[in-house]
Amino acid sequence: METRMPAVFIGHGTPMNALERNRYTEAWRAIGASMPRPRAILAVSAHWFVNATAVTAMARPKTIHDFFGFPQALFDIEYPAPGLPELAEEVADAVHPEYVGADHDSWGLDHGTWSVLVHAFPDADVPVVQLSINAQKPPDYHLELGARLAKLRERGVLVLGSGNVVHNLRAIDWRNPDAGTDWARRFDEHAREVMTGRPADAASLVVHRDYAISAPTPEHFLPLLYVAGFAAATGDAVEVPVDGYAFGSLSMACYAVGCARTAGAGHLPGTAALGSEAPPEDTNI
Ligand code: ZN
Repeated sequence: METRMPAVFIGHGTPMNALERNRYTEAWRAIGASMPRPRAILAVSAHWFVNATAVTAMARPKTIHDFFGFPQALFDIEYPAPGLPELAEEVADAVHPEYVGADHDSWGLDHGTWSVLVHAFPDADVPVVQLSINAQKPPDYHLELGARLAKLRERGVLVLGSGNVVHNLRAIDWRNPDAGTDWARRFDEHAREVMTGRPADAASLVVHRDYAISAPTPEHFLPLLYVAGFAAATGDAVEVPVDGYAFGSLSMACYAVGCARTAGAGHLPGTAALGSEAPPEDTNI
C-alpha cells in the first residue's frame, strides 16, 4: 500500500538555480523533504514540448543539458536518477483513452526537471520519468490529462510540473534579478486566484488579457495545467509554498496540492543574490 502523493508545480526560473541556493531553491528543498518518499516522480517539464504525448521508458535516462551560454559548471551537472520503465504502462492506463507513447531512446531528464530535482531530491535515488507536453493539443487536454494522472498518487507517484506561470524571454531584464513587470504581476496574481480557488477553470487563464505577453510561447505555462487538473480531480487544497519574480518577466510561483505545509525560507535572498552574469540572447531557458 503506497502513501497518497501530492502534486507540485515549480517555477524553475533560469538554469542557474541548479547551482545556487536562494529562497526558491530552499523552498524546493523543503517541498521535497515534506513528503513521503515517492516510488517515482512523473515530471512534466516545459523543455520537452513536442508534437506527441510520450513518456520516457528507459532504465537509465541521460541528463540533458538543453541550454546555451551558461557556465561550464552547469554543463557538468549529472542527475543520475534511474528511470522506471514499467511506469510508462501505468501512465498509459491512467490517461486512457488518450494515447501516450513510450520513448526508449530520444529524451531523458532535461534541465526543467533536474534543475529542480537537484534541490528537491538531491540524492537522485527516486526514479524519474518525464511526460512530454503535446504541442498540438489545446489547454483543456493538458488539464484533463493532469486530472487523469491523479490516479497515480495512490501508486506512490509524485506529479511534478516544471515551468513558469510567466515566462517571456524577450522581456527579460538581466539587471533586475528580483523585479516583476506590472503585466507579469497581474497575470501571476490572477493565476493564483484561479489555482487556489477554482483550479478546474485554469485552462481559461489563456483568455486573460495578459496571457499573450506573459506566455508568448505556451510551454512554460502548460505544466501548470497538469497540476491544476490534479487539484480539480482530487479536491485537495492548493497552496503556494513560495512566490516572487525574476528578471522582470519570470514568475517564480510554486503550487503544491495535497502537500504537508512547508516552512518558508524567507530569510534567504531572491535571485538578486546570485550575481549571475547575463547570458546571451538565445539561451533556451
Ligand atoms: Zn525553463
